[in-house]
Amino acid sequence: MRRVLVANRGEIAVRIIKACRALGIESVLAVSEIDRDSLPARMADRVVCIGPPRPADSYLKIEAIVCAAIGTGSDAVHPGYGFLAERPELAEACAAHGLAFIGPSAENIRQMGDKLGARKIARDHGIPVVPGSEKVESLGDALAATEEMGFPVLLKAAAGGGGRGMKIVADRSELSGAFETASAEARSAFGNPVLFIERYIPNARHIEVQVIGDHQGNTIHLGERDCSLQRRYQKIIEEAPAPSISNQLREEIRAAGVAIARAVRYENAGTVEFILDQDTGKFYFMEMNTRIQVEHPVTEMVTGIDLVKEQIQVAAHKPLSISQSELRITGHAIECRINAESVLEGFQQFPGRITQWRPPQGPNIRVDSHCYPGYFVPPYYDSLLAKVITLGDDRLEAIERMQFALGTFTISGIDTAIPFLRFLLGDPDYVVGRVNTRWVETMQEKFATAQLGAKS
Ligand code: ADP
Ligand code: ADP
Ligand code: MG
Repeated sequence: MRRVLVANRGEIAVRIIKACRALGIESVLAVSEIDRDSLPARMADRVVCIGPPRPADSYLKIEAIVCAAIGTGSDAVHPGYGFLAERPELAEACAAHGLAFIGPSAENIRQMGDKLGARKIARDHGIPVVPGSEKVESLGDALAATEEMGFPVLLKAAAGGGGRGMKIVADRSELSGAFETASAEARSAFGNPVLFIERYIPNARHIEVQVIGDHQGNTIHLGERDCSLQRRYQKIIEEAPAPSISNQLREEIRAAGVAIARAVRYENAGTVEFILDQDTGKFYFMEMNTRIQVEHPVTEMVTGIDLVKEQIQVAAHKPLSISQSELRITGHAIECRINAESVLEGFQQFPGRITQWRPPQGPNIRVDSHCYPGYFVPPYYDSLLAKVITLGDDRLEAIERMQFALGTFTISGIDTAIPFLRFLLGDPDYVVGRVNTRWVETMQEKFATAQLGAKS
């Protein structure tokens, strides 16, 4: 592999370009018109403009990406996360044109992209799935499904992702309205209105297993991450390893992740997501993401493995650089996502010009970002500005280091959630690990009150 086309933008484009460089591989960046002068565009060996800013006119155009790859003599395409990363059609188009797709096979993507199909695969291999229904095509189906399950339930889109298309339904009277909105949302966001229902687990933690497989038949896990701190079903703080679970449970979850990857002969990096019911101690398969994930750096920090490099090597048919028995997990890592958003206005996205940008520095502090002083954050895309990752000998040290890092991160010109993140990290419940997936929501109100108190 000599040249890779990077089909993404933002921090993940920077991340992929760096991995290419470390491997002595050239990078070509496909950009929209508004990203011509972006940091990754300056770092790449070559830049090809593929269209206007709106994702549908550029980053989501499979033909434009494939043409850019062929036209620049690239051997491979890295899709990053989001955009086309989980579209089997891109993997297929690459294969049809002799390009390596740096991700799993189109078949793997298709198998796991349908959450109902993925649940069946898990069940068939003895992995517990969240108690739930098959597809519900009508309100009648939905009522029948909840008859056995009881309430509350979660309506989910079979093709869903990024926390979109999900609706909690507290009781029977809400079902009809929720069903209509969720299927309309699923249709517009994913072009597929199919829904299913899961029992809602109120006191849950999100624990996911990083897996990777190569073309030689090796499939291993690289430990797990805890991503329970979320707002609107989207993660904001993640860590590795998962705190306060027994080693037996940890091993069971990891083994379940590997079993699912093996079941589909999974190739490349992927994440198997589980939900842990803290009231019963039981865990269930939720879904598999067939791509590199936003939070992959916490795994890199505690394993010392460069996941993007591994992805590229595997796509070039090289074997994994480590075996399961060689895996060592050392220390504790935390990641905070720094989005351009206004916390007090319901996390509304906040595009604009960054006037000052001074990221934190120091041992065991990593910042993945594409921003710089004077950068204009465009309104068309995801609002992620940077990820701050800290490593400590133990969890407390990682938390303290994160407090220091966020405290010395200067960003002016736009709003970010840094004050809110620091508020969360400083809370005793977080420090002792007494949290669940709804905890951030409860902290939002406390934060708003504290802010108002500080002003008056
Ligand atoms: P998950 O949805 O499984 O929590 P991640 O936390 O890795 O996955 O990413 C959040 C979601 O937001 C992903 O589904 C991804 O498609 C989308 N996303 C995040 N950042 C970007 C970005 N910079 N560009 C496009 N899509 C993004
Ligand atoms: P997406 O594809 O959008 O990432 P997931 O199925 O992974 O969707 O769910 C996203 C988040 O929603 C989970 O991390 C978890 O916090 C919450 N969630 C999902 N399913 C359930 C459930 N059955 N009960 C409670 N919370 C859930
Ligand atoms: Mg998910």
